[in-house]
Amino acid sequence: MTEGQKDRAGKDCRFDTVLIANRGEIALRILRACRDLGLKTVVVCSQADRQASYGTLADTFLCIGPASAGKSYLNSDAILLAARTTGAGAVHPGYGFLSENAAFSEAVEKAGMVFIGPTAQAIATMGDKIAAKSAMIAAGVPCVPGPDSALPDDRAAIEAIASEIGYPVIVKAAGGGGGRGMRVVLDAGALHESVALTREEARQAFGTPALYMEKFLEYPRHIEIQVLCDVHGNAIWLGHRDCSMQRRHQKVIEEAPAPGIAYDIIGPVAEACLKACRQIGYRGVGTFEFLYEDGSFYFIEMNTRLQVEHPVTEMTSGIDIVQAQIKAAQGIALDIAQSDVKIDGHAFECRINAEDPDTFLASAGTITALKLPSGPGIRVDTHVHAGYKVPPYYDSLIGKLIVHAPTRAEAIAAMRTALAETEIEGISTNLPLLRALFDDDGFAAGGTDIHYLEKWLKRRS
Ligand code: ADP
Repeated sequence: MTEGQKDRAGKDCRFDTVLIANRGEIALRILRACRDLGLKTVVVCSQADRQASYGTLADTFLCIGPASAGKSYLNSDAILLAARTTGAGAVHPGYGFLSENAAFSEAVEKAGMVFIGPTAQAIATMGDKIAAKSAMIAAGVPCVPGPDSALPDDRAAIEAIASEIGYPVIVKAAGGGGGRGMRVVLDAGALHESVALTREEARQAFGTPALYMEKFLEYPRHIEIQVLCDVHGNAIWLGHRDCSMQRRHQKVIEEAPAPGIAYDIIGPVAEACLKACRQIGYRGVGTFEFLYEDGSFYFIEMNTRLQVEHPVTEMTSGIDIVQAQIKAAQGIALDIAQSDVKIDGHAFECRINAEDPDTFLASAGTITALKLPSGPGIRVDTHVHAGYKVPPYYDSLIGKLIVHAPTRAEAIAAMRTALAETEIEGISTNLPLLRALFDDDGFAAGGTDIHYLEKWLKRRS
Protein backbone atom coordinates (compact mmCIF):
# COMPACT_ATOMS: atom_id res chain seq x y z
CA MET A 1 0.00 0.00 0.00
CA THR A 2 1.41 3.38 -0.97
CA GLU A 3 1.71 6.04 1.65
CA GLY A 4 -1.42 8.16 1.45
CA GLN A 5 -3.40 10.58 3.49
CA LYS A 6 -6.89 11.70 4.27
CA ASP A 7 -8.61 14.50 2.43
CA ARG A 8 -10.14 17.48 4.19
CA ALA A 9 -13.40 15.60 4.71
CA GLY A 10 -11.42 12.92 6.53
CA LYS A 11 -11.85 10.34 3.78
CA ASP A 12 -9.02 7.85 3.42
CA CYS A 13 -7.82 8.22 -0.16
CA ARG A 14 -5.15 5.55 -0.26
CA PHE A 15 -5.21 3.09 -3.15
CA ASP A 16 -2.83 0.68 -4.80
CA THR A 17 -4.75 -0.26 -7.95
CA VAL A 18 -6.04 2.16 -10.57
CA LEU A 19 -8.71 1.30 -13.12
CA ILE A 20 -8.08 3.19 -16.37
CA ALA A 21 -11.41 3.98 -18.02
CA ASN A 22 -10.11 5.07 -21.38
CA ARG A 23 -8.32 3.87 -24.49
CA GLY A 24 -5.54 4.70 -26.93
CA GLU A 25 -2.57 6.91 -26.23
CA ILE A 26 -3.97 8.34 -23.00
CA ALA A 27 -4.69 4.89 -21.53
CA LEU A 28 -1.03 4.02 -22.15
CA ARG A 29 0.16 7.38 -20.76
CA ILE A 30 -1.80 6.83 -17.52
CA LEU A 31 -0.69 3.20 -17.31
CA ARG A 32 2.95 4.27 -17.48
CA ALA A 33 2.44 6.89 -14.76
CA CYS A 34 0.81 4.28 -12.51
CA ARG A 35 3.64 1.80 -13.05
CA ASP A 36 6.23 4.49 -12.32
CA LEU A 37 4.44 5.15 -9.04
CA GLY A 38 4.37 1.45 -8.18
CA LEU A 39 0.60 1.16 -8.64
CA LYS A 40 -1.20 -1.79 -10.19
CA THR A 41 -3.45 -1.17 -13.19
CA VAL A 42 -6.72 -2.47 -14.51
CA VAL A 43 -7.37 -1.39 -18.09
CA VAL A 44 -10.88 -1.79 -19.45
CA CYS A 45 -11.57 -1.94 -23.16
CA SER A 46 -14.27 -2.42 -25.75
CA GLN A 47 -14.35 -5.40 -28.09
CA ALA A 48 -12.79 -3.19 -30.78
CA ASP A 49 -9.71 -2.60 -28.58
CA ARG A 50 -9.12 -6.16 -27.37
CA GLN A 51 -5.93 -6.41 -29.40
CA ALA A 52 -4.48 -3.13 -28.08
CA SER A 53 -0.87 -3.84 -27.16
CA TYR A 54 -0.97 -1.69 -24.01
CA GLY A 55 -3.36 -4.32 -22.61
CA THR A 56 -0.41 -6.66 -22.15
CA LEU A 57 1.27 -4.06 -19.91
CA ALA A 58 -1.70 -3.87 -17.55
CA ASP A 59 -2.00 -6.12 -14.50
CA THR A 60 -5.57 -6.80 -15.61
CA PHE A 61 -7.02 -6.15 -19.08
CA LEU A 62 -10.75 -6.52 -19.24
CA CYS A 63 -13.30 -6.23 -22.04
CA ILE A 64 -16.40 -4.48 -20.73
CA GLY A 65 -18.61 -4.17 -23.79
CA PRO A 66 -19.02 -3.84 -27.54
CA ALA A 67 -17.27 -1.32 -29.79
CA SER A 68 -19.92 1.35 -29.36
CA ALA A 69 -18.60 3.84 -26.76
CA GLY A 70 -22.06 4.14 -25.23
CA LYS A 71 -21.89 0.48 -24.29
CA SER A 72 -18.25 0.43 -23.18
CA TYR A 73 -16.19 3.56 -22.41
CA LEU A 74 -19.33 5.54 -21.51
CA ASN A 75 -20.99 2.68 -19.64
CA SER A 76 -20.46 3.70 -16.04
CA ASP A 77 -22.23 0.61 -14.62
CA ALA A 78 -19.91 -1.72 -16.52
CA ILE A 79 -16.85 0.28 -15.48
CA LEU A 80 -17.89 0.30 -11.82
CA LEU A 81 -18.57 -3.44 -11.91
CA ALA A 82 -15.11 -4.01 -13.41
CA ALA A 83 -13.56 -1.82 -10.70
CA ARG A 84 -15.33 -3.69 -7.90
CA THR A 85 -14.55 -7.15 -9.20
CA THR A 86 -10.87 -6.38 -9.75
CA GLY A 87 -10.36 -4.64 -6.41
CA ALA A 88 -9.45 -1.27 -7.92
CA GLY A 89 -9.23 1.53 -5.37
CA ALA A 90 -9.38 4.40 -7.86
CA VAL A 91 -10.65 5.22 -11.34
CA HIS A 92 -8.78 7.42 -13.81
CA PRO A 93 -11.14 8.68 -16.55
CA GLY A 94 -8.47 10.18 -18.88
CA TYR A 95 -9.97 12.80 -21.20
CA GLY A 96 -13.22 12.68 -23.18
CA PHE A 97 -15.68 9.85 -22.38
CA LEU A 98 -16.68 10.10 -18.67
CA SER A 99 -13.93 12.47 -17.58
CA GLU A 100 -16.19 15.48 -17.06
CA ASN A 101 -19.28 13.61 -15.99
CA ALA A 102 -20.27 14.72 -12.47
CA ALA A 103 -22.60 11.74 -11.96
CA PHE A 104 -19.76 9.34 -12.76
CA SER A 105 -17.39 11.06 -10.32
CA GLU A 106 -20.09 10.78 -7.66
CA ALA A 107 -20.85 7.13 -8.47
CA VAL A 108 -17.16 6.18 -8.20
CA GLU A 109 -16.84 7.87 -4.80
CA LYS A 110 -20.16 6.42 -3.57
CA ALA A 111 -18.83 2.98 -4.45
CA GLY A 112 -15.99 3.66 -2.00
CA MET A 113 -13.30 4.36 -4.61
CA VAL A 114 -11.32 7.47 -5.45
CA PHE A 115 -12.19 9.38 -8.61
CA ILE A 116 -8.94 10.73 -10.04
CA GLY A 117 -10.36 14.14 -10.80
CA PRO A 118 -12.34 16.84 -9.03
CA THR A 119 -15.48 16.39 -6.92
CA ALA A 120 -18.84 15.97 -8.65
CA GLN A 121 -19.79 19.42 -7.44
CA ALA A 122 -16.75 21.12 -8.97
CA ILE A 123 -17.34 19.28 -12.28
CA ALA A 124 -21.01 20.30 -12.27
CA THR A 125 -20.22 23.95 -11.53
CA MET A 126 -17.68 24.16 -14.34
CA GLY A 127 -19.90 22.15 -16.70
CA ASP A 128 -22.58 24.83 -16.42
CA LYS A 129 -21.04 27.74 -18.27
CA ILE A 130 -23.17 30.34 -16.50
CA ALA A 131 -22.29 28.96 -13.04
CA ALA A 132 -18.65 28.76 -14.13
CA LYS A 133 -18.65 32.39 -15.24
CA SER A 134 -20.16 33.48 -11.91
CA ALA A 135 -17.52 31.53 -9.98
CA MET A 136 -14.80 33.16 -12.07
CA ILE A 137 -16.15 36.67 -11.58
CA ALA A 138 -16.27 35.99 -7.81
CA ALA A 139 -12.56 35.11 -7.88
CA GLY A 140 -11.58 38.10 -10.03
CA VAL A 141 -10.84 36.06 -13.17
CA PRO A 142 -11.37 38.27 -16.25
CA CYS A 143 -14.39 37.12 -18.32
CA VAL A 144 -15.88 38.01 -21.70
CA PRO A 145 -18.16 41.09 -21.34
CA GLY A 146 -21.77 39.99 -20.82
CA PRO A 147 -23.98 39.00 -17.87
CA ASP A 148 -23.29 35.84 -15.83
CA SER A 149 -26.98 34.98 -15.88
CA ALA A 150 -29.32 33.13 -18.22
CA LEU A 151 -30.93 35.04 -21.07
CA PRO A 152 -34.54 35.93 -20.25
CA ASP A 153 -37.43 35.04 -22.60
CA ASP A 154 -38.61 38.61 -23.00
CA ARG A 155 -37.65 39.96 -26.45
CA ALA A 156 -37.11 43.54 -25.35
CA ALA A 157 -34.90 42.39 -22.47
CA ILE A 158 -32.80 40.28 -24.87
CA GLU A 159 -32.41 43.24 -27.21
CA ALA A 160 -31.34 45.45 -24.31
CA ILE A 161 -28.64 42.94 -23.23
CA ALA A 162 -27.30 42.67 -26.79
CA SER A 163 -27.06 46.42 -27.29
CA GLU A 164 -25.53 46.90 -23.86
CA ILE A 165 -22.77 44.39 -24.80
CA GLY A 166 -22.48 45.78 -28.36
CA TYR A 167 -22.57 43.75 -31.59
CA PRO A 168 -21.24 41.33 -32.64
CA VAL A 169 -22.38 39.08 -29.79
CA ILE A 170 -22.35 35.33 -29.33
CA VAL A 171 -25.26 33.31 -27.93
CA LYS A 172 -24.09 30.21 -26.08
CA ALA A 173 -25.82 27.24 -24.46
CA ALA A 174 -25.11 27.01 -20.71
CA GLY A 175 -24.68 23.25 -21.06
CA GLY A 176 -22.79 23.38 -24.38
CA GLY A 177 -19.54 21.62 -25.15
CA GLY A 178 -17.31 20.44 -27.96
CA GLY A 179 -17.72 23.71 -29.84
CA ARG A 180 -21.46 23.10 -30.27
CA GLY A 181 -24.42 25.15 -29.09
CA MET A 182 -23.22 28.63 -29.96
CA ARG A 183 -24.13 31.19 -32.59
CA VAL A 184 -22.61 34.52 -33.58
CA VAL A 185 -25.03 37.43 -34.05
CA LEU A 186 -23.66 40.22 -36.21
CA ASP A 187 -26.53 42.71 -35.86
CA ALA A 188 -29.93 43.28 -34.26
CA GLY A 189 -31.75 41.96 -37.35
CA ALA A 190 -30.49 38.41 -36.72
CA LEU A 191 -30.89 38.43 -32.94
CA HIS A 192 -34.21 36.71 -32.22
CA GLU A 193 -33.87 34.01 -34.84
CA SER A 194 -30.38 33.16 -33.57
CA VAL A 195 -31.58 32.98 -29.97
CA ALA A 196 -34.52 30.74 -30.95
CA LEU A 197 -32.33 28.37 -33.01
CA THR A 198 -29.67 28.10 -30.31
CA ARG A 199 -32.31 27.54 -27.61
CA GLU A 200 -33.84 24.68 -29.58
CA GLU A 201 -30.42 23.17 -30.22
CA ALA A 202 -29.56 23.47 -26.52
CA ARG A 203 -32.84 21.84 -25.48
CA GLN A 204 -32.22 18.89 -27.77
CA ALA A 205 -28.47 18.42 -27.39
CA PHE A 206 -27.74 19.45 -23.81
CA GLY A 207 -31.02 18.80 -22.00
CA THR A 208 -31.34 22.42 -20.85
CA PRO A 209 -32.51 25.38 -22.94
CA ALA A 210 -30.58 27.88 -20.77
CA LEU A 211 -28.55 30.32 -22.86
CA TYR A 212 -26.29 33.28 -22.14
CA MET A 213 -24.85 36.04 -24.26
CA GLU A 214 -21.44 37.65 -24.44
CA LYS A 215 -19.28 39.81 -26.66
CA PHE A 216 -17.99 38.00 -29.76
CA LEU A 217 -14.25 38.50 -30.00
CA GLU A 218 -13.17 38.69 -33.63
CA TYR A 219 -9.49 37.75 -33.74
CA PRO A 220 -8.54 36.17 -30.39
CA ARG A 221 -5.83 33.68 -29.56
CA HIS A 222 -6.58 30.61 -27.41
CA ILE A 223 -4.40 30.73 -24.31
CA GLU A 224 -4.74 28.35 -21.37
CA ILE A 225 -3.37 27.99 -17.87
CA GLN A 226 -2.55 24.59 -16.34
CA VAL A 227 -3.29 24.25 -12.63
CA LEU A 228 -2.48 21.54 -10.10
CA CYS A 229 -4.24 21.36 -6.74
CA ASP A 230 -4.03 18.98 -3.78
CA VAL A 231 -6.85 18.17 -1.35
CA HIS A 232 -5.34 20.34 1.37
CA GLY A 233 -6.01 23.72 -0.27
CA ASN A 234 -2.67 24.12 -2.06
CA ALA A 235 -2.85 25.23 -5.70
CA ILE A 236 -0.11 26.06 -8.20
CA TRP A 237 0.05 26.77 -11.93
CA LEU A 238 2.55 25.22 -14.30
CA GLY A 239 2.68 27.83 -17.04
CA HIS A 240 0.57 28.69 -20.05
CA ARG A 241 -0.05 27.17 -23.46
CA ASP A 242 -1.12 28.55 -26.81
CA CYS A 243 -3.62 26.32 -28.64
CA SER A 244 -4.76 28.76 -31.32
CA MET A 245 -3.97 26.46 -34.24
CA GLN A 246 -7.45 24.95 -34.56
CA ARG A 247 -9.81 23.61 -37.18
CA ARG A 248 -13.50 23.55 -36.29
CA HIS A 249 -12.59 24.23 -32.64
CA GLN A 250 -10.32 21.15 -32.65
CA LYS A 251 -6.73 21.84 -31.63
CA VAL A 252 -4.10 20.67 -34.11
CA ILE A 253 -0.83 22.09 -32.72
CA GLU A 254 -0.17 23.29 -29.17
CA GLU A 255 2.82 25.04 -27.66
CA ALA A 256 4.19 26.17 -24.32
CA PRO A 257 4.83 28.87 -23.35
CA ALA A 258 2.47 31.08 -25.39
CA PRO A 259 4.71 33.24 -27.59
CA GLY A 260 4.82 36.94 -26.78
CA ILE A 261 2.88 36.67 -23.51
CA ALA A 262 5.26 37.42 -20.67
CA TYR A 263 4.79 35.89 -17.26
CA ASP A 264 4.19 39.25 -15.63
CA ILE A 265 1.18 39.75 -17.95
CA ILE A 266 -0.40 36.36 -17.38
CA GLY A 267 0.77 36.00 -13.75
CA PRO A 268 -2.08 38.00 -12.16
CA VAL A 269 -4.62 36.08 -14.28
CA ALA A 270 -3.13 32.79 -13.11
CA GLU A 271 -3.23 33.99 -9.49
CA ALA A 272 -6.97 34.69 -9.90
CA CYS A 273 -7.42 31.16 -11.33
CA LEU A 274 -5.72 29.71 -8.24
CA LYS A 275 -8.02 31.77 -6.05
CA ALA A 276 -10.99 30.33 -7.96
CA CYS A 277 -9.60 26.81 -7.37
CA ARG A 278 -9.40 27.42 -3.63
CA GLN A 279 -12.89 28.94 -3.56
CA ILE A 280 -14.54 26.00 -5.31
CA GLY A 281 -12.46 23.38 -3.48
CA TYR A 282 -10.86 22.20 -6.69
CA ARG A 283 -8.59 19.16 -6.56
CA GLY A 284 -6.27 17.55 -9.09
CA VAL A 285 -5.36 19.01 -12.48
CA GLY A 286 -7.41 21.44 -14.51
CA THR A 287 -7.14 23.98 -17.28
CA PHE A 288 -8.52 27.50 -17.47
CA GLU A 289 -9.14 28.44 -21.10
CA PHE A 290 -9.00 32.06 -22.22
CA LEU A 291 -9.43 34.03 -25.36
CA TYR A 292 -6.70 36.68 -25.61
CA GLU A 293 -7.20 39.76 -27.72
CA ASP A 294 -5.54 43.20 -27.71
CA GLY A 295 -3.58 42.40 -24.58
CA SER A 296 -6.58 41.26 -22.49
CA PHE A 297 -7.63 37.82 -21.26
CA TYR A 298 -11.23 36.60 -21.32
CA PHE A 299 -12.16 33.35 -19.54
CA ILE A 300 -14.26 30.98 -21.67
CA GLU A 301 -14.24 27.70 -19.77
CA MET A 302 -12.49 25.41 -17.37
CA ASN A 303 -11.67 21.83 -18.31
CA THR A 304 -11.85 19.74 -15.16
CA ARG A 305 -9.61 16.95 -16.41
CA LEU A 306 -6.26 16.02 -17.87
CA GLN A 307 -5.91 17.52 -21.36
CA VAL A 308 -4.57 16.07 -24.59
CA GLU A 309 -1.92 18.80 -24.71
CA HIS A 310 -0.55 18.31 -21.16
CA PRO A 311 2.85 17.06 -22.49
CA VAL A 312 4.00 20.51 -23.67
CA THR A 313 3.64 21.74 -20.09
CA GLU A 314 5.41 18.64 -18.78
CA MET A 315 8.33 19.36 -21.10
CA THR A 316 8.67 23.02 -20.10
CA SER A 317 7.96 22.60 -16.37
CA GLY A 318 9.74 19.28 -15.86
CA ILE A 319 6.72 18.08 -13.86
CA ASP A 320 4.99 14.80 -14.65
CA ILE A 321 1.41 16.04 -14.64
CA VAL A 322 -0.21 12.59 -14.65
CA GLN A 323 1.86 11.36 -11.71
CA ALA A 324 1.15 14.63 -9.88
CA GLN A 325 -2.57 14.18 -10.56
CA ILE A 326 -2.53 10.64 -9.16
CA LYS A 327 -0.55 11.68 -6.08
CA ALA A 328 -3.01 14.52 -5.44
CA ALA A 329 -5.86 11.99 -5.65
CA GLN A 330 -4.06 9.86 -3.05
CA GLY A 331 -4.31 12.77 -0.66
CA ILE A 332 -0.60 13.52 -0.78
CA ALA A 333 0.15 17.21 -0.27
CA LEU A 334 1.91 19.07 -3.10
CA ASP A 335 5.63 18.86 -2.50
CA ILE A 336 6.46 21.93 -4.58
CA ALA A 337 5.55 25.58 -4.08
CA GLN A 338 4.83 28.08 -6.85
CA SER A 339 8.37 29.43 -6.53
CA ASP A 340 9.73 25.96 -7.37
CA VAL A 341 8.01 25.95 -10.77
CA LYS A 342 10.58 26.97 -13.36
CA ILE A 343 9.65 27.16 -17.02
CA ASP A 344 12.47 26.07 -19.28
CA GLY A 345 12.67 26.32 -23.09
CA HIS A 346 9.87 25.83 -25.57
CA ALA A 347 7.71 22.83 -26.50
CA PHE A 348 5.37 21.97 -29.36
CA GLU A 349 2.88 19.15 -29.74
CA CYS A 350 1.46 17.91 -33.04
CA ARG A 351 -1.68 15.83 -32.90
CA ILE A 352 -1.33 13.00 -35.39
CA ASN A 353 -4.78 12.09 -36.63
CA ALA A 354 -5.86 9.16 -38.78
CA GLU A 355 -7.65 11.28 -41.35
CA ASP A 356 -7.42 12.41 -44.92
CA PRO A 357 -5.14 15.49 -44.97
CA ASP A 358 -7.38 17.28 -47.46
CA THR A 359 -10.94 16.19 -46.70
CA PHE A 360 -10.35 15.46 -42.98
CA LEU A 361 -12.49 12.33 -43.25
CA ALA A 362 -11.49 9.70 -40.68
CA SER A 363 -9.22 6.98 -42.01
CA ALA A 364 -9.49 3.60 -40.26
CA GLY A 365 -7.51 0.49 -41.18
CA THR A 366 -4.24 -1.29 -40.56
CA ILE A 367 -0.94 0.56 -40.14
CA THR A 368 1.33 -1.44 -42.41
CA ALA A 369 4.58 0.35 -41.63
CA LEU A 370 5.57 2.84 -38.94
CA LYS A 371 8.72 4.89 -38.42
CA LEU A 372 8.84 7.19 -35.41
CA PRO A 373 11.38 9.94 -34.75
CA SER A 374 13.82 10.01 -31.85
CA GLY A 375 16.74 12.05 -30.61
CA PRO A 376 17.29 14.85 -28.11
CA GLY A 377 14.12 16.58 -26.97
CA ILE A 378 11.79 14.30 -28.97
CA ARG A 379 8.87 12.51 -27.32
CA VAL A 380 6.17 10.40 -28.95
CA ASP A 381 3.03 9.49 -27.01
CA THR A 382 1.26 6.77 -28.95
CA HIS A 383 -0.26 3.33 -28.57
CA VAL A 384 0.05 2.42 -32.26
CA HIS A 385 2.62 0.17 -33.95
CA ALA A 386 3.09 -1.53 -37.31
CA GLY A 387 0.24 -3.99 -37.69
CA TYR A 388 -2.08 -1.96 -35.41
CA LYS A 389 -5.62 -1.70 -36.72
CA VAL A 390 -7.11 1.78 -36.20
CA PRO A 391 -10.76 1.16 -35.31
CA PRO A 392 -13.37 3.39 -36.96
CA TYR A 393 -15.41 3.94 -33.79
CA TYR A 394 -13.48 6.55 -31.82
CA ASP A 395 -11.76 9.87 -32.35
CA SER A 396 -9.01 9.97 -34.91
CA LEU A 397 -6.06 10.84 -32.63
CA ILE A 398 -3.45 8.08 -32.99
CA GLY A 399 -0.48 9.77 -31.43
CA LYS A 400 1.22 12.96 -30.33
CA LEU A 401 4.62 14.16 -31.43
CA ILE A 402 6.23 16.45 -28.88
CA VAL A 403 9.50 18.37 -29.08
CA HIS A 404 11.34 20.45 -26.51
CA ALA A 405 14.24 22.82 -27.24
CA PRO A 406 15.84 25.86 -25.60
CA THR A 407 14.08 28.39 -27.86
CA ARG A 408 10.92 28.50 -30.00
CA ALA A 409 12.96 28.71 -33.21
CA GLU A 410 14.98 25.65 -32.23
CA ALA A 411 11.80 23.80 -31.26
CA ILE A 412 10.33 24.56 -34.71
CA ALA A 413 13.48 23.24 -36.38
CA ALA A 414 13.38 20.12 -34.20
CA MET A 415 9.70 19.51 -35.03
CA ARG A 416 10.45 19.86 -38.77
CA THR A 417 13.15 17.20 -38.45
CA ALA A 418 10.91 14.95 -36.37
CA LEU A 419 8.00 15.27 -38.81
CA ALA A 420 10.32 14.46 -41.72
CA GLU A 421 11.44 11.29 -39.91
CA THR A 422 7.87 10.13 -39.19
CA GLU A 423 6.36 7.65 -41.61
CA ILE A 424 2.97 6.00 -41.26
CA GLU A 425 1.78 3.70 -44.02
CA GLY A 426 -1.49 1.87 -44.64
CA ILE A 427 -3.79 4.68 -43.48
CA SER A 428 -4.05 8.39 -44.26
CA THR A 429 -2.85 10.87 -41.67
CA ASN A 430 -2.59 14.62 -41.27
CA LEU A 431 1.24 14.47 -41.40
CA PRO A 432 1.37 16.43 -44.71
CA LEU A 433 -0.70 19.22 -43.12
CA LEU A 434 1.52 19.32 -40.01
CA ARG A 435 4.67 19.46 -42.14
CA ALA A 436 3.24 22.31 -44.22
CA LEU A 437 2.27 24.26 -41.09
CA PHE A 438 5.76 23.95 -39.63
CA ASP A 439 7.09 25.39 -42.90
CA ASP A 440 4.66 28.31 -42.78
CA ASP A 441 6.13 31.76 -42.11
CA GLY A 442 3.00 33.06 -40.36
CA PHE A 443 3.03 30.20 -37.89
CA ALA A 444 6.78 30.53 -37.41
CA ALA A 445 6.32 34.20 -36.48
CA GLY A 446 4.06 33.13 -33.56
CA GLY A 447 0.92 34.65 -32.10
CA THR A 448 -1.54 33.65 -34.84
CA ASP A 449 -5.24 33.84 -33.94
CA ILE A 450 -7.81 31.02 -33.76
CA HIS A 451 -9.00 31.61 -37.35
CA TYR A 452 -5.54 31.39 -38.89
CA LEU A 453 -5.64 27.69 -39.82
CA GLU A 454 -9.08 27.77 -41.42
CA LYS A 455 -8.15 30.82 -43.51
CA TRP A 456 -4.85 29.15 -44.45
CA LEU A 457 -6.70 25.99 -45.54
CA LYS A 458 -9.11 28.05 -47.63
CA ARG A 459 -6.21 29.78 -49.38
CA ARG A 460 -4.70 26.40 -50.22
CA SER A 461 -7.89 24.87 -51.65
P1 ADP B 1 -16.87 24.41 -25.80
O1 ADP B 1 -17.16 24.04 -24.38
O2 ADP B 1 -17.94 23.97 -26.73
O3 ADP B 1 -15.48 24.06 -26.23
P2 ADP B 1 -16.03 27.22 -25.48
O4 ADP B 1 -16.76 28.17 -24.64
O5 ADP B 1 -14.72 26.71 -24.97
O6 ADP B 1 -17.01 26.00 -25.85
O7 ADP B 1 -15.82 27.85 -26.91
C1 ADP B 1 -15.32 27.09 -27.99
C2 ADP B 1 -14.74 28.02 -29.03
O8 ADP B 1 -15.73 28.92 -29.52
C3 ADP B 1 -13.62 28.91 -28.53
O9 ADP B 1 -12.36 28.25 -28.53
C4 ADP B 1 -13.68 30.03 -29.52
O10 ADP B 1 -13.09 29.64 -30.74
C5 ADP B 1 -15.17 30.19 -29.76
N1 ADP B 1 -15.74 31.18 -28.83
C6 ADP B 1 -16.38 30.95 -27.66
N2 ADP B 1 -16.76 32.10 -27.07
C7 ADP B 1 -16.35 33.10 -27.89
C8 ADP B 1 -16.42 34.54 -27.84
N3 ADP B 1 -17.01 35.18 -26.82
N4 ADP B 1 -15.89 35.23 -28.87
C9 ADP B 1 -15.30 34.60 -29.90
N5 ADP B 1 -15.19 33.27 -30.02
C10 ADP B 1 -15.71 32.52 -29.02
